[in-house]
Amino acid sequence: MNPTRKLVYLDHAATTSLDPRVLEAMMPYLREHYGNPSSVHQLGRKARYAVEQARERAAACLGAEPSEIIFTSGATESNNLALKGILAHFPGKGLVTSSVEHKAVLQPAKTLSGQGYPVTYLRPDRYGRISPEQVAESITEETALVSIMMVHNELGTRYDVERIAAICRERGVLFHCDAVQGVGYYPIRLDEWPVDALSLSAHKFYGPKGVGVLFVRGGTPLRPLIEGGAQERNRRGGTEHVAGIVGLAHALELAVIEREERVKHVRALRDRLATVLQAELGDYLVINTPLQEEEAAPHILHVVFPPQDELPVDGEMLLLNLDMEGICVSSGSACTSGAVEPSHVLQAIGIAPDTAKAAVRFSLGWKNTVEEIDYTVEKVEQILRRIKLLSSR
Ligand code: PLP
Repeated sequence: MNPTRKLVYLDHAATTSLDPRVLEAMMPYLREHYGNPSSVHQLGRKARYAVEQARERAAACLGAEPSEIIFTSGATESNNLALKGILAHFPGKGLVTSSVEHKAVLQPAKTLSGQGYPVTYLRPDRYGRISPEQVAESITEETALVSIMMVHNELGTRYDVERIAAICRERGVLFHCDAVQGVGYYPIRLDEWPVDALSLSAHKFYGPKGVGVLFVRGGTPLRPLIEGGAQERNRRGGTEHVAGIVGLAHALELAVIEREERVKHVRALRDRLATVLQAELGDYLVINTPLQEEEAAPHILHVVFPPQDELPVDGEMLLLNLDMEGICVSSGSACTSGAVEPSHVLQAIGIAPDTAKAAVRFSLGWKNTVEEIDYTVEKVEQILRRIKLLSSR
């Protein structure tokens, strides 16, 4: 039985709930302080003050200067701005990234490649890992920018951002990091790490949707993507999402203050989930998240169910059945024109297409409980039996 009679939400890598404390901080800017930060009257000045305060608070959390923080609509925009905005200043020069980045990096990379910028895609190992040495070997005379994420959004794999950044600095190329999945779980010290650009998104750490940051180190050339206003020091036009920006700063501060507690909590649950699933399902399950503490973020467990007796497991059916039991997870697969396509990530780490279609990403949050984890394992086993995978046991 569902112990809470509520939803068991295990899709925090897709989005998190809005922390009530964050909502409370945002409310005045949705109600009474509705001025446009560009207006010179008192309501405008109030909004401007809120935006600039939020910028200072966000910068302090990251070890950045306030002038290095650009507020955006989220990490998709931040990644686009970083890649296109930086490379616009290096015509003919190229990008090094990996084949397992989020589509918010891969798609702009493809566009840039179509415009004649050379793009190199590093190939990961079995767990999605890219080593700093691979990055070092891939940098050539024509490289201007390297973009590698901090934590993998499907697999949970962690990348050595500090070492990769140091290599890039040593070799005289710029480094961008999509830190979306890492921000809630690791300290980010931009005053110590030679990172030139870094993306984050508020809705991944209990802030509101539709607001993010692109950190761009002072002196880094950047052409704006969105023109039409002088906001964000001419780097991103458009009236600021004041309440969202206030919410982002508040959520980021809470994430920093409560990080250790949250990490401990989700890691214990994630490890329990992995151990019990493995004990219950044995060979019927393959774990794609490297489980050593320093190799993966604490909140993600990615598994696949290989075909049994040559019969593939119906991954879509598994997710739908879990949903009917109140368990929200995601597959890591993109649903295109009605057909579930195996994720580009699973293809890149060498998972066979039939297996890749039966993938589940469990991503945990600090409100999840042991009861929810045990209930989930029980339901996964029941459903697999029902859809015949375990019938021969
Ligand atoms: N990058 C990574 C690693 C992500 O996990 C996501 C969200 O799924 C994004 C970028 C896109 O972020 P947003 O939803 O803010 O556009």
